[in-house]
Amino acid sequence: MSESSELAVRAAKLDAGDGLAGVRSRFVLDDVVYLDGNSLGALPAAVPGRVEDVVRRQWGELRIRSWDESGWWTAPERIGDLVAPLVGAAAGQIVVGDSTSVNVFKALVGAVRLARLGKPVASAASAASTASVASGRDEIVVDATTFPTDGYMAESAARLTGCTLRPVTPAEVPGVLGERTAAVLLNHVDYRSGRLHDLPGLTAAVHAAGAVAVWDLCHSAGALPVGLDEHGVDLAVGCTYKYLNGGPGSPAYLYVRADLQDRFDSPLPGWNSHAEPFGMRSDYEPATGALRGRVGTPDILSMLALEAALEVWDGVSIEAVRAKSLALTDFFLECVAAYVPSGRVESVTPVAHGERGSQIALRCDDAGDVMKRLIERGVVGDFRRPDVLRFGFTPLYVGFGDVERAARVLAEVL
Ligand SMILES: *Cc1c(COP(=O)(O)O)cnc(C)c1O
Repeated sequence: MSESSELAVRAAKLDAGDGLAGVRSRFVLDDVVYLDGNSLGALPAAVPGRVEDVVRRQWGELRIRSWDESGWWTAPERIGDLVAPLVGAAAGQIVVGDSTSVNVFKALVGAVRLARLGKPVASAASAASTASVASGRDEIVVDATTFPTDGYMAESAARLTGCTLRPVTPAEVPGVLGERTAAVLLNHVDYRSGRLHDLPGLTAAVHAAGAVAVWDLCHSAGALPVGLDEHGVDLAVGCTYKYLNGGPGSPAYLYVRADLQDRFDSPLPGWNSHAEPFGMRSDYEPATGALRGRVGTPDILSMLALEAALEVWDGVSIEAVRAKSLALTDFFLECVAAYVPSGRVESVTPVAHGERGSQIALRCDDAGDVMKRLIERGVVGDFRRPDVLRFGFTPLYVGFGDVERAARVLAEVL
C-alpha cells in the first residue's frame, strides 16, 4: 500500500472511532477543509433561526418589552454562565460584552488598581510583603510576543496608571517579577506559534510576587481545559468568535474571580455596571458580582447569536475536545512529514502536548502564496506575516480525513 493510501485508511479508522464525529452535523459546512476556526469559527446550524426569531419576533413584535420578556437585559451574565464551564469557572464570574481589546483594557487597569489595594493572595510570604509595597507597584509586565492589540492596550493602561510597561517573553516572566510588579498580562496560547503557556505555573509565580494575573484566553477557550478557578486566575478575557463559534465580531467576555469582584474597579464604569442602572443617579455606585464588568447597552443581536452558538456544546466535554485536538494535530504533523519533502516547511508549534494549543504553524518562505493556492484547492487556513502557514483544528467539526486531505493538498501545492 502506498504511503498516502495507508494514511487515508488510518484517517478513516480514526474518524470511525471518533466520539465527537457526530457534532459536525450541528454546523453548516461544505466539503471545504476548514482549518481557520481559530480565526472565525464555523456557523452553528441553530444560529440563523435564532437570529431570525430575535429580529422578527423579539425586536419586530415585542419591541421594548423584550428587554424583560426575552431576557435581553440579563443576557451578558446569562451567556457568561454558559461560557463559564468551558473555561473552568463557577457561575457568576463571567460577563459577556464588548470586544476582547476593550476587555483587556478593563482587566488590566482593574488589575493594577487591585494590586495597589494590596489584594489578599494565596501565599503567606507574599501576603506579608503586599501591605508594605502595595502602593509602590508601578510595573505592568506583558508578553512581548502577544497579539498586537493586547500590547497596545497594555501600553495605554500603563500610561493611564502611571506604570512602566515591561514587554518580555513568557519564559522571562518569572525572572522579572518583583515588588514593583502590579499586573501581568499573558496569553494562554500564542496566536502565531500555537504554543501553550503554563497557566498554573505562571499564575502561581505572579501571585508569589504579590501581583495580579490577567490571562487572554482567545486561543484556548473552547479548544482545551483552562481551569480558571482551579488555578486561582485573577482576571481573564477572551473572544467568542474563534473556538466558541459566536460569529463575526461576537462579543468577548471578562472573568473576575468571585472574591475580587467587590474590589474590582472598572476603568469603564458605564451605566450598565451601576448598582441601580434605572435609578439614573448622578453618583456612581458599582453593582455587585460579575456584572460590574459591564459597560453600556449590550449588543443583543450578536450576543443572542452567540447564545444559540453555544448550544453545540450540549453533552460535549472540553476534555474530549482536548484529546481529539491533540490527536488531530499529531496526525497532521505525521501526514505532513510523510507527504511534504523534508526541509520544505518547518513546524514552529511545540511537539510536546503540554506546550501545544489546537493549531499547527508551519514556517515556509513563500507562505503567503502557498496559502492562496491551498485556499483555491479547498483547504482553508491562514497566513501570518512574514512566513507562517497557520492551521487551526476545531475538534467539534474537523475530522481525521480532513487532516489527511489538507496535508496531501499542501504537498501538492508545495
Ligand atoms: C483574536 C485575538 C484578539 C482579538 O481582539 P478583538 O478586540 O476581538 O479584535 C485579541 N487578542 C488575542 C490574543 C487574540 O487572539
